[in-house]
Amino acid sequence: MSKKSTKKRANRAKTKKKKLEMKATPESILPPKLKSEPEAKPEPELIPQPAQLIDLDEKSVAEPLENLERAPKMSLKLHALNVRLPWLKVVALVLLTALVVVGVEEVLRHNTNPPASVQVDSAPGELPAVTEVPTGVELATNTTPAEQPESPNTETPKPEAPATTTENKPSVQPSQGRKLIALTFDDGPSAAQTPRLLQILKEKDVKATFFVLGNMAQKSPGVIRQAEADGHEVESHTMTHANLKRSTVEGIKWEVAAINGVFTEILGHTPSLTRPPYGNVSNEVRTYVNQPLILWTVDPEDWKYKDAAAVRSKVVNGAFDGAIILMHDIYATTVDAVPGIIDELRAAGYEFMTISELAAARGVQLQNGVTYGSFRP
Ligand code: ZN
Repeated sequence: MSKKSTKKRANRAKTKKKKLEMKATPESILPPKLKSEPEAKPEPELIPQPAQLIDLDEKSVAEPLENLERAPKMSLKLHALNVRLPWLKVVALVLLTALVVVGVEEVLRHNTNPPASVQVDSAPGELPAVTEVPTGVELATNTTPAEQPESPNTETPKPEAPATTTENKPSVQPSQGRKLIALTFDDGPSAAQTPRLLQILKEKDVKATFFVLGNMAQKSPGVIRQAEADGHEVESHTMTHANLKRSTVEGIKWEVAAINGVFTEILGHTPSLTRPPYGNVSNEVRTYVNQPLILWTVDPEDWKYKDAAAVRSKVVNGAFDGAIILMHDIYATTVDAVPGIIDELRAAGYEFMTISELAAARGVQLQNGVTYGSFRP
């Protein structure tokens, strides 16, 4: 091969290279980039940077040659001219470096863009008392409570204020300065005791909550119908008083489905709250019962003492604002204790509420899978 033809080739390669250079000129890349970011402030560094690189190109500043490996095709073509025209390498190298720099910058810009737009979206949500919250923010707020059942806290009875408490503060205010308390009765209905209790509650004008067993409700459907008609809250204590913590997932599902069926048959609706027997809760219980789990904070152990005076003094001594009191309406001694309990607590300034009323009065939005033992102010 003659020197001339080699030179010709070299020139051709050079022209080709220059054409490529024109095509790949940073300016030809910049416009679409700027178009895609209309909100971005013009950044002066963006344009000078590639321009500087072109200056360097003209001055033929040497760069590490191994960078050529990034463009194997070009490298192959230039290989033949390696010895005679080493500066071509430099040109190609500088050009490639410019392209890489622009490319990396592009990637970085795209990566930084999403957070910027998130900040813009979330900004209105930080404004106080905004009713028209952007949809995106609403979704974000909704996901927070949904995550709670999946990552349950301790099993200790604790009122867990939802993230939206601030928004509910107006509804909390009416209960401030009031002493609120909830009487709850488990394991019934009892054909022998519950009607008597309903009569006492009616006379005293007190609303209570009954956590009934499905199999007991089946035996005395009229009793829970009467309880609901009297304004009491009737909720689930499972179908068979199962220890849900030791149950299989299938067992938990069966307990829920069975009592739902009993409620639907007798009351025409399913329960919205569950008191897990023995207060036993597990992640499976939270997930598969999938209702607010109502525990308690005052337990007179009426099943153990079966003594009206003892039950009464234990309840009255343990009472506090927002407490949930646990009793069982299947014991005559417990029902005997109720009139005195109501009189003493009322004299101490307490108002009696159902669980749902108490939660609402304290601005607590009950959440599925979360345990509640009290609703303190
Ligand atoms: Zn029970």
